[in-house]
Amino acid sequence: MDKVSLEASLYVDGVFRPAASGRSGVVVEKATGAKIGTYAQGQAEDVDAAVAAARAAQPGWAALSAPERAAYLRAFAAYLQDNYEDLVALSMRETGGVRTKAEDEVGTSIRQLAISAVQATENAGDILPPYKAGKLSLSRAVPLGVLGLITPWNYPMNLAMRAVAPGLAFGNTIVLKPAELTPLIGGHVLALAAHHAGFPPGVFNVVTGDGPGAGKPLAEHRGVDMLDFTGSREVGVAIATAAAGQLRDIRLELGGSNAFVVLEDADVELAASCAMIASLEFQGQTCISASRHIVLRPVADAYLDAVTKRADALRVGDPFDGVDLGPLISERQRDRVHKAIVEPSIAQGARLVTGGTYEGLFYRPTVLADVTPEMPAFSEEIFGPVIPVTVVDTEEEAIALTNGYPMLMNSVFTADLMRGMDVAERLHAGEVHINDAHARHGAENQMPGFTRRQWIGVQRGPLELPEWATR
Ligand code: NAD
Repeated sequence: MDKVSLEASLYVDGVFRPAASGRSGVVVEKATGAKIGTYAQGQAEDVDAAVAAARAAQPGWAALSAPERAAYLRAFAAYLQDNYEDLVALSMRETGGVRTKAEDEVGTSIRQLAISAVQATENAGDILPPYKAGKLSLSRAVPLGVLGLITPWNYPMNLAMRAVAPGLAFGNTIVLKPAELTPLIGGHVLALAAHHAGFPPGVFNVVTGDGPGAGKPLAEHRGVDMLDFTGSREVGVAIATAAAGQLRDIRLELGGSNAFVVLEDADVELAASCAMIASLEFQGQTCISASRHIVLRPVADAYLDAVTKRADALRVGDPFDGVDLGPLISERQRDRVHKAIVEPSIAQGARLVTGGTYEGLFYRPTVLADVTPEMPAFSEEIFGPVIPVTVVDTEEEAIALTNGYPMLMNSVFTADLMRGMDVAERLHAGEVHINDAHARHGAENQMPGFTRRQWIGVQRGPLELPEWATR
């Protein structure tokens, strides 16, 4: 990969250039704090230029044949594939994730491009029954126009790609504003890939910068036909509020407090293995991380022992040292986990079973028992390596406690598959897993046309968990 990739600039209208203000920020390796690059501090003026370029390029891009657009997408994917090892290493440095997380991020991005390249060439409409004899009635997918994308730092590449790939495939042009903590893997590398793939100028643009400086002007830009935001509820609410006043088209992918329900007939060891993934993968900094473990009383002690034993065995450190968990993304995030979640929950009566300590950004996997719904460990999105366990007496109680909070993903563990299906149907989440942890089912396939549906993932064969999760 070009060395230029670590000295980031904006990518506007097919040109790499500094921010109009000339300002830049520093990108650090999360495990060591070492400087690994810079990023341009884009602002409203830069966003204006990028949106204007995307608007100008969109009709020509949409006018290409689907196979031509698909060929560009394949060339984009080829650049990522050719630089796979460098990109995995960059993701590990910039996000602080271990190798399997980085491989997942880059690999999913390449797969998403391949899927979208195929979808672009498939049937894009329906013939409808005409309302009157003698008429032809049909519907077809048409591009929205210019897409504005604002993305977070946790899986910066593939969370961008899930909108970039289908968006480009179906004839939209794009302005991407990646998170300021991960502007290289989340933005600049994608600009390099598009550039090397020979995309026409203006089809794909990247404006790096912070939220208020670059994100807000993009979110509110009248030249953007749809704004796709992935990030926190707080910022999502601000964007939705501003959009409502202008009746603008937005799509929000936010966070939540996801539940992990263990019924009394569950295989406790299996549930505890999955809990390592569900709550601790990428240090728990995943929007679909399990935030609340709701366990039926007959298996509560066994479950607590099983998760504690596994959490204690995990190694925390520099991802390049072959550990299981890397650093949290920032001091701010660490302080939120520790001071706003763990400490206040303990002060309200939660019992610290293990963990609750840190060195720098390295936070020990933490298990809290006796957690009640009033505690932040139950009600808040944690975004850290914490397993809060709440004990209930009935399935009804577990379902009632699970519902009623914003959430994206739930898991339910039971020996009876039909019981699991029944519970899944009564949980208010877009995604439910039965006897499984999150992120095992290739969800990128589910989002080609910016649609949303509930899907239920069932573990049908032996689990293929990494070795560290099963210790
Ligand atoms: P964040 O909301 O702080 O930042 C997300 C993006 O928004 C960044 O690019 C940031 O620069 C930008 N931003 C900040 N303020 C802005 C403003 N006023 N206007 C416009 N843009 C602004 O979120 P984060 O800390 O980067 O990511 C963590 C959050 O993202 C968690 O809540 C997590 O649940 C959520 N998330 C959701 C999904 C999903 O698919 N639903 C996926 C990953 C992360």
